[in-house]
Amino acid sequence: MRRPLLLLLSAALAVPACSAPASTTSSQPVRAISSASLASPPKADPYVKGLSRPVADPLYPAYGNPSIDVLHYGLKLGWQPSSRTLTGRADITLRATKAVTSIRLDFGRALKVDGATVAGKPVKVTRKGDDLTLHAPLKADGRAVVSVRYHGVPKVTNARQKRADINLLGFHIESGGRAWALQEPFGSFTWFPVNDHPSDEALYDVAITVPNGWSGVAHGTYKGKTTSGGKSTFRWQSRDPVASYLTVFAADKFRLYRDKGPRGVPITYWIRPGDVPKTLKVAKQTPAIMKWLEKRLGAYPFPTAGIVVTSDSGMETQQMITLGPPYMTPGVVAHELAHHWFGDTVTPRTWRDLWMNEGFAMYFELQYYADHGGGTIDELMDSIRGEEAQLRKKFGPPGKYRKDSFAESNVYYGPALMLHDIRERVGDDKFFAMTRAWPQQHRNTTQDRASFTKWINDFTGEDLTDLIDSWLDGKTSPR
Ligand SMILES: [Zn+2]
Repeated sequence: MRRPLLLLLSAALAVPACSAPASTTSSQPVRAISSASLASPPKADPYVKGLSRPVADPLYPAYGNPSIDVLHYGLKLGWQPSSRTLTGRADITLRATKAVTSIRLDFGRALKVDGATVAGKPVKVTRKGDDLTLHAPLKADGRAVVSVRYHGVPKVTNARQKRADINLLGFHIESGGRAWALQEPFGSFTWFPVNDHPSDEALYDVAITVPNGWSGVAHGTYKGKTTSGGKSTFRWQSRDPVASYLTVFAADKFRLYRDKGPRGVPITYWIRPGDVPKTLKVAKQTPAIMKWLEKRLGAYPFPTAGIVVTSDSGMETQQMITLGPPYMTPGVVAHELAHHWFGDTVTPRTWRDLWMNEGFAMYFELQYYADHGGGTIDELMDSIRGEEAQLRKKFGPPGKYRKDSFAESNVYYGPALMLHDIRERVGDDKFFAMTRAWPQQHRNTTQDRASFTKWINDFTGEDLTDLIDSWLDGKTSPR
């Protein structure tokens, strides 16, 4: 996620595209476990890459359910701007991680369930708050397809965070029925039934039907549109696992622009006509920014990329970054694209390790400035040290941040300085070999501090445990 507005850093960076836009933060999250590490997955399973080992979140345990592992979401969504009504059918392929008597998913209370089945049989459902429970048992490791039909006017959820721009999460509706969603650390439950936690990544097929003249944008690879009866259906597919906070819903009168990234990676930009003059030029820098990142990090880890320009937001949503016009700068695009290596393909298993996303994304954003006339990396790092110390006091150490202070700048600055410390200790060659090997060796997995520390110690041949722990947990900055 983009970080909150930091005047100090903005002033320090005499760069044309300072990334610190108006006020937000970043953060991001978790991901699925390598399927190879799970006990003998079925052969020729089309959804094998959706296997995960879900866990309860230490900070936001009300979202997500560790007894359920969703492998695939098939979402057929209809958006009617005039009545602001979302109509949905979710076909969810899941397995129980232990024997259960019912299946509980996160699902917004504003949406009405019109019918539900498990394995094709109608089942009783109960609602409590933002939980949906389907009364059907599953054996340990038993699988079923859960289907839910629903409709209603979606409502955002209050995340009770200090950071004002992420206080309202989920499905936003604007004038004229324009709609977009933002959901970190949670909130996709405001538009579909979901196991809303980064430790349960899944594959997706999404179809969004809108009136002709409108477009429906989702995460994943754009598979084209069909038109009939005054409506258009836009299809999207994710064959790499996606954490629920990295999903996309956007419906608006977008124009579609096509581009090509390094190695011919297809890119699409979805921009409203009124936003084109101030954003298309920056969007078209995406191939060059991807090329710069690939030089540092290895191949971009997904088959396509894109940007959808909504009124607000600033998220590294998978294969389709969501950015508001104020945040369309090369630095922010570099930040959100860097997350595709740090956050999207390697995802923190719980929100405790948000630093894994924002530390790396911040570091490569600053390195991007350094390589584009913004000063040396040492100068840039020094420019944030004073503020980092203040942020640590205010919001807690980055590895133990306060739960009402999600994605404040403490999880960006301290971990970025930690990475710079590691770079000084091991040298440039080993450091950049490390930043390349970590995402490439852990594609489509979820990780945590313990696994990162063990891996980096082995990779560098240095014991960095104390350095890492003191940056992440220290009440005061290590240096
Ligand atoms: Zn970020």
